[in-house]
Amino acid sequence: MLAEVIVDIVHENVVHTFTYRVPEGMALQPGQRVSVPFGSLKKEGVVLSLKETCDLPPEKLRDVLCPLEDYPAILPPLISLARYMADRAPCPLAETLRLMLPAEMRGGRVQVKEQPVVRLTGALKPEQLEAQGRSQKRRLLLDLLSDGAEHPVGEMRLLVRDPLPALRQLEEQGLVAFSQREVLRSPGGPVSPLPDPQLTPSQEEALSLLRPAVDKGEGSFLLFGVTGSGKTEVFIRLVRRVLEMGKTALILVPEIALTPQMVSWFRARFGEVAAVLHSRLSAGERFDEWRRLRRGDARVAIGARSAVFAPVENLGLIVVDEEHESTYQSDHHPRYDTREVAEWRCREEGAVLLLSSATPSILSFARTRRGDLRLIEMPSRVMNRPLPEVSVVDMRQELREGNRSIFSIQLQKALQDCVARGEQAMLLMNHRGYSSFVSCRGCGQAIKCPNCDVAMTYHLSGGDGQLHCHYCGYTAPVPTVCPSCESRYIRYFGSGTQKVEEELRKLFPGTGIVRMDVDTTSGKDGHAKLLDEFRSGRARLLVGTQMIAKGHDFPSVTLVGIVAADLTLNLPDYRCRERTFQLLTQAAGRAGRGEKPGQVIIQTYKPEDLTIQAAASQDYRAFFEMEFDRRRAGLYPPFTAVARLLTEANSPEAAAARSGALYNRCLELLETHPAWKRRVPLMAPGKPSVSLLRGRYRHQVLFKILVHPEAEAFAAALADLAREEDSGTTTVFEYNPTSLM
Ligand code: ADP
Ligand code: ZN
Ligand code: ZN
Repeated sequence: MLAEVIVDIVHENVVHTFTYRVPEGMALQPGQRVSVPFGSLKKEGVVLSLKETCDLPPEKLRDVLCPLEDYPAILPPLISLARYMADRAPCPLAETLRLMLPAEMRGGRVQVKEQPVVRLTGALKPEQLEAQGRSQKRRLLLDLLSDGAEHPVGEMRLLVRDPLPALRQLEEQGLVAFSQREVLRSPGGPVSPLPDPQLTPSQEEALSLLRPAVDKGEGSFLLFGVTGSGKTEVFIRLVRRVLEMGKTALILVPEIALTPQMVSWFRARFGEVAAVLHSRLSAGERFDEWRRLRRGDARVAIGARSAVFAPVENLGLIVVDEEHESTYQSDHHPRYDTREVAEWRCREEGAVLLLSSATPSILSFARTRRGDLRLIEMPSRVMNRPLPEVSVVDMRQELREGNRSIFSIQLQKALQDCVARGEQAMLLMNHRGYSSFVSCRGCGQAIKCPNCDVAMTYHLSGGDGQLHCHYCGYTAPVPTVCPSCESRYIRYFGSGTQKVEEELRKLFPGTGIVRMDVDTTSGKDGHAKLLDEFRSGRARLLVGTQMIAKGHDFPSVTLVGIVAADLTLNLPDYRCRERTFQLLTQAAGRAGRGEKPGQVIIQTYKPEDLTIQAAASQDYRAFFEMEFDRRRAGLYPPFTAVARLLTEANSPEAAAARSGALYNRCLELLETHPAWKRRVPLMAPGKPSVSLLRGRYRHQVLFKILVHPEAEAFAAALADLAREEDSGTTTVFEYNPTSLM
């Protein structure tokens, strides 16, 4: 018997399979991981297939050394998925196969955890108990073991101090036997089960469309439900149906640290049958949760994007919650879009795909128009709670009236009322630090990071402040004189979360205030602690970046203030309006989710902006129509793919030269392929918006490529161009990247 093995080496010369002989008596299946000799090394590999014969002479064949597990670690549909992804990327199969396993499984960095257990070897006779004489310890232990069950030695430590010598004596007498039993490292403690609420009519209606699809095992849906419409309950009921059918389900969330509540809801409703997969688990926990799924002991996985590769058989449903979030796109190599992978799995494995959002991505909503996704709407909040009332404050007017504070009079007043009523408020400020930048009054230059072409942000830490680069982490003291003109007039402009927090402390001394941003949430439970502080009511005011806008359900929040709504509106990215609309609507949606109605105040310097107006009226459809037309006119996705060849080098000249050469190669490609030429409405060389990043100079050729089968061939040719070696420069090809900075 012979095995075709993909060896776990990512190198362009090792892309194909290698044939090994399966020694007599070793049983292998496709998908099983094996240890194989490779040159003079020992390597891990995955068996793709087994066969009887091959063209190689027998003396060239080497033996599989041993299987690494006694089960196939990669299920057949996931092998096909890895193949599909490797073809698309394109990249070696070994690389996409890695996505299908917990990282620590490779190289054996994580092991099954075992603990010693003890049991009686047979029924205990009274004289054997007698024979223990005066040893109280041995009697106690035998008494415990007399139920005939296995007991962990650890458990016996709770009963008597240092039980091991006594147990060894009992072992010598032949009364007890030791063995090893596997222990599962499970994330999170036990949870108390929750009862089911009575479904609302729109939840019933959504389920009446979804259930038949689950029964049939096909269908792709977009659940478009306003914030607080109770989408989670729809997932829970649907998952239950899937489990009743003996199938499995995956629930994907954008970022698990920000959704502890979702995880606890699921665990409270499904108990042991739910597994949690995310990067903040310990290696052991992740491995054990993975194996519980692989064995079918757990049949629902909840996790961030990599959980889309969870090793479940008999898949019935994949839910992608908050589907508009950009975290679903992985920018690490090999790049993938979770929504696409989910769709592939559902199609191939006979499952239902359910995307869900209060602010669907333009791409997904456009697909409901074409019938690729079926639209299900939940237009009102549960219990007919009203959507919050939104007002827009013109900050230019505030300034004219002499208010120089970062809070408008209206917001200050609303905060005071909210605190006085004993309720809670959230303030969104999508910029961390104290001042957004520091610049010179003399020459107008902002102080920039020496490694990146971006202004540095002023942060307070302890008593003194420092400038921080948000791109590379470089920090420096604030200069006392301007580095370009030596003027002494250094001034601080704009504000960040620290400043908002400081102002709040002045206005509300003695009131509990929590700030949540990247700086306050490092560490394993950083998010959980802060969220808990606020949920418990110990803190009344929560200030934070976009991380506070996501999915949280805090019933006593009645006021949401958006301190600077225009912050994301002018980013150099065609998606900046979409992101601003999503951020404002999601943040607004945190208000009034409990019994008391909510109020939202949006502060802006551009009250006439149509995106801000659409967010203020919480009118997704109006925003969609406007943005869709703009995308059509400007030839942006979904009408085109935006792509670029991004080159980095140690000097601006080298970057520009390489980029220029690539541009010429592209011109040639288009001249020789007229079918491609018609489908590339834009191809332009130039500097990206950040032309220096982490000490590397950047240059790019930007493309818009009309969506068409021919376009894929062109994209593949560009990917090939990027892979060509050029000393001193590196080039990557990015296809619809999440960021165009
Ligand atoms: P969404 O994700 O749509 O914004 P959630 O799923 O977070 O909304 O639900 C909003 C709130 O409504 C939650 O507190 C949830 O417990 C509650 N809820 C959901 N469904 C029901 C129901 N049928 N009856 C009562 N409360 C419900
Ligand atoms: Zn200056
Ligand atoms: Zn920097």
